[in-house]
Amino acid sequence: MAARPAPYLDDLNPAQRAAVLAVDGPVLMLAGAGTGKTKALTSRIVHLLATGKARPNEILAVTFTNKAAREMKDRVGRMLGQVEGMPWMGTFHSVSVKILRRHAELVGLKSNFTILDTDDQLRLLKQLIVAANLDEKRWPARQLAGLIDHWKNRAWTPEKVPSSEAAGFNNRGTELYDQYQARLRSLNACDFGDLLLHCVTIFQAHADILTQYQRWFRYILVDEYQDTNVAQYLWLRLLAQGHRNICCVGDDDQSIYGWRGAEVGNILRFEKDFPGAQVIRLEQNYRSTEHILAAASGVIASNAGRLGKTLWTEAEGGEKLRLIGHWDGEEEARWIGDEIEALQRGTRGLGPFGLNDQAILVRASHQMRAFEDRFLTIGLPYRVIGGPRFYERLEIRDAMAYFRLAVSPDDDLAFERVVNTPKRGLGDKAQQEIQRAARENGVSLLEGARELLARGGIGGKGAGQLRAFVDGVDRWHDTVVNSRPEVADAVLEPLLPETAPARDHSHVRLAEVILEESGYVSMWQNDKTPEAPGRLENLKELVKALEQFDSLQGFLEHVALIMDNETEEAAEKVTIMTLHAAKGLEFPVVYLPGWEDGLFPSQRSMDESGQKGLEEERRLAYVGITRAERLCTVSFAANRRVYGQWQSQLPSRFIDELPGAHVEVLTPPGLYGGGFGAAAPAFGGSRIEERATRADVYNSPGWKRLQDRAGQRPMSQPRESRNMTIDLQAVSAYALQDRVFHQKFGYGTVIGIEGDKLEVAFDKAGTKKVVAGFISPAHE
Ligand code: ATP
Ligand code: MG
Repeated sequence: MAARPAPYLDDLNPAQRAAVLAVDGPVLMLAGAGTGKTKALTSRIVHLLATGKARPNEILAVTFTNKAAREMKDRVGRMLGQVEGMPWMGTFHSVSVKILRRHAELVGLKSNFTILDTDDQLRLLKQLIVAANLDEKRWPARQLAGLIDHWKNRAWTPEKVPSSEAAGFNNRGTELYDQYQARLRSLNACDFGDLLLHCVTIFQAHADILTQYQRWFRYILVDEYQDTNVAQYLWLRLLAQGHRNICCVGDDDQSIYGWRGAEVGNILRFEKDFPGAQVIRLEQNYRSTEHILAAASGVIASNAGRLGKTLWTEAEGGEKLRLIGHWDGEEEARWIGDEIEALQRGTRGLGPFGLNDQAILVRASHQMRAFEDRFLTIGLPYRVIGGPRFYERLEIRDAMAYFRLAVSPDDDLAFERVVNTPKRGLGDKAQQEIQRAARENGVSLLEGARELLARGGIGGKGAGQLRAFVDGVDRWHDTVVNSRPEVADAVLEPLLPETAPARDHSHVRLAEVILEESGYVSMWQNDKTPEAPGRLENLKELVKALEQFDSLQGFLEHVALIMDNETEEAAEKVTIMTLHAAKGLEFPVVYLPGWEDGLFPSQRSMDESGQKGLEEERRLAYVGITRAERLCTVSFAANRRVYGQWQSQLPSRFIDELPGAHVEVLTPPGLYGGGFGAAAPAFGGSRIEERATRADVYNSPGWKRLQDRAGQRPMSQPRESRNMTIDLQAVSAYALQDRVFHQKFGYGTVIGIEGDKLEVAFDKAGTKKVVAGFISPAHE
């Protein structure tokens, strides 16, 4: 082999090369972020194929996300060029489906089984709960779904659930789990968790089949091993048992899926499971500059019980991690948007960095909304990874459908969407009746429902609930009509900051009332799935977004407008994603917003007794910082709006853990000119090894100014947001003929300037006078 040229080995360091060449026997590559674990793993696949050690179908490589699997396929494809067949590369689930289809009959399924989505799953569980005479309000299907998922992650079939765990769900959990599995079999279906569980069951019960796969998959490779759960772990161990050619790659400091059943212990006991395993450590980081790496290492050092790793980089110096505090979340979004564009132009002595090179990584998906709104307003192309964009989310669409009904009760699409969400006992039949009544009378569905109720055409529990729904819509609509501003065009008039009337927040309150009275919020409050808290946060975020508008209608128009903008396709886009979804990825420029106690670390992790939750959050912080190659910016806001109330925030405790020598504190914008030029480090590089503390932040000139402003307007009290915008933009930044964008009127051209009042010829809305604070530069 030595005689053959092996280009894929050339760009590896000795430790990586050792990991690639040690093809036989168990290998654990345990190393910090950005040390080239994934690169070595991929090269190992190429090596196995290029040397003829294995044929493509004898290699099994598993990763965690579809995106990671795709990237691995691409990389292997590129390195190999044209080869016959590709190895089995995919996620645990995608590989399991393939295996299960071949042996479905062994677990009572046919090979064409269907995979249920969450809705189907819940419907099924609900039927079982009702049949078991349990009150489905007290014992919601989602809670049972969460419990069953938890058991499946631990590879427990109904009979294997230990008695210590079986008390769940009113002592009926295991019985219902058993019935659920039987129902799935009779439907020739399985859920997501079954894919792995069934495979494990088959392997355990049928030695011949297991042997067949063991022979088949002679080489097994696993990326992100630190995030495997018990079922995945068993699945791997069974497959690797015979030949023991298993190579696992991971980083205990990046274990971030504990909440979904992942066990970091799996990586720690690898050497016990596979005696004689070679453990290879990689120490050189190729991704990030020195300051970024040092900042990340400083944070993770606070975790106890780590394996501990040394990391170094040849990329000395570079930019320090930048830390910036903002007045509130909107300002944070505005600053990041401006910064992205500045770096895109390369005007800060850095870059240029294209939009594809820049990413915003958030702790919670509800944080995305502020960025999406801002970027849509300024026309900055973005993509949301790991989830739909804010306004495309299920709960947001549902809530918007309620608002649409309140504004126009004739909106039949909205009616259909929510008439039985939450469940109001209106099945398909009842809904068809409503449709028919509407058609016969040539009226809207709401009127159809009213008509049906009047003639007693609907019976049972559904009647009362439908009545309550119709009454609710009437009531909400009345409120909308009565609170409509007398002159709908009042906002068209220029408003000077000091004369701006206190904003009427009645539509925000109405939105809250609608979501409460309709039962929509309680539906998610009773929901025990892991997604439910996130959905509730998104709903709060939606209510928060409403505050910037004068009416529900104005808001709905805004959304319609921005959704329309989204159709423009751009090749270059800023990425917005959660920290969880960013695992394994890298970007030259990374923004980490919302570093505030209660947001990051999450409130839940702070409330928990013990350090477990907090340590997982800290690992998430480590994952976040280590995604950055050249520039990493951490930010936090002094105020966030939660349910219409201002809440003052404390900078994250993780900020205290950033090593001061590697951090530069920037001055908040709008106070000092902002940006690099105005950078005001609170602590000099001479104080090597000292930590940036929250006190340092508070003592920085920028923060002092924020505090001063807080003195003018008490932080803990609701504050009128538009005044704030005007403060910042009081010196009009616009010139005649500038193209601008207004949230309500769309695009236009400046034709007159009077202080901070502008006269704008809007393309569609005609000529209006507006305050500069209401508009932004157009990016058409
Ligand atoms: P993570 O823990 O975040 O998943 P990782 O250890 O898997 O990181 P990779 O993504 O494989 O790291 O590599 C990080 C970056 O370093 C990539 O851009 C990769 O191409 C580069 N890299 C890895 N090894 C080398 C090397 N020997 N020489 C030059 N660049 C390398
Ligand atoms: Mg990796």
